[in-house]
Amino acid sequence: MKAVIFGNNQINVMETQVPGQKQGEALVKVYMAGICGTDIEIFNGYAEFSGTPGHEFAGIVEAAPGYPELLGKRIVADINCGCGECRWCRHGDARHCESRRVIGIRGINGAFAEYLSVPVKNLHFIPDSVDNLRAVFAEPLAAALEIAQQIHIKNTDRVAVLGDGKMGLLAAIALKHYTGNLLLAGRYPEKLAIAEDQRIDTVRIGRKEPDKDIARRLGQFDMVVEATGSPAGINTALALVRPKGRIIVKSTSRSPSQIDFSGVVVDEIHIVGSRCGDIDLALRFLEHRWVDVAALVEKIYPFSGFTEAFERARQKGSLKVLLDINDSGTPQSNSF
Ligand SMILES: [Zn+2]
Ligand SMILES: [Zn+2]
Repeated sequence: MKAVIFGNNQINVMETQVPGQKQGEALVKVYMAGICGTDIEIFNGYAEFSGTPGHEFAGIVEAAPGYPELLGKRIVADINCGCGECRWCRHGDARHCESRRVIGIRGINGAFAEYLSVPVKNLHFIPDSVDNLRAVFAEPLAAALEIAQQIHIKNTDRVAVLGDGKMGLLAAIALKHYTGNLLLAGRYPEKLAIAEDQRIDTVRIGRKEPDKDIARRLGQFDMVVEATGSPAGINTALALVRPKGRIIVKSTSRSPSQIDFSGVVVDEIHIVGSRCGDIDLALRFLEHRWVDVAALVEKIYPFSGFTEAFERARQKGSLKVLLDINDSGTPQSNSF
């Protein structure tokens, strides 16, 4: 099979063996995969991962020894593969298992390949009404929805989402279901327009605009979601949050942030880190079309165009770049 392999700052598309299945694993044929900011960070050396990346995908089960009921099912997957035995895993939270593998990120090959092996317990069936293009968004949408699982949001809460990248847009689109008072702050008019099309209020902030000027202009918020992807974003969030307010941090950046903690102490700010979420919840949002993720697609490339697709995804301001890995025979883009 064809697979992308990252190593030594190079992208190699090579012929490799179709992975075998251990007990409790399924062989998944990948239909569509999405390139995420994390994949770009991995390429740049984050997580010291070498192998096949790709953790946002939709596919079909082609083999699952001992689980005949899974054959032919379209699936997406939870990317955290726990040991199954530690106290985190026993409580159903493989995300924090110390010896976890993470599909396409840590210790297990991902979906930029024709096939990958996935633990059966990580699989989630895609509802018939959700096409592969939308299903690819289950993983990042779950991460966006996780914010409202971690923190109680009242309909009257004034919420700001900082950053109009893929995560910022998804967070805004997801959180508009939880508050009637949401503002997305970003830099790119064309991306803010995508949010406006989904009836989200937006505001443009300047690249060099000082945080205190932004705060003067926008006022204070009960909750700020930091999704800028930049180490400086946390300071903008701190400038915007009210005393005793909450900041949810979504950005992971290779360079560390510099925070003046005295403001956090004096204003008693809650800062909450937020990563992956509930895939089934995301699939329900997609099934009922509560969110329109298709608007976030930059372009769909054939798998043979991986290098070009990756370059496109690396361009500043690009939206979700998708790879059509195998022709699934199901309509992909009728409604796109
Ligand atoms: Zn991702
Ligand atoms: Zn574990």
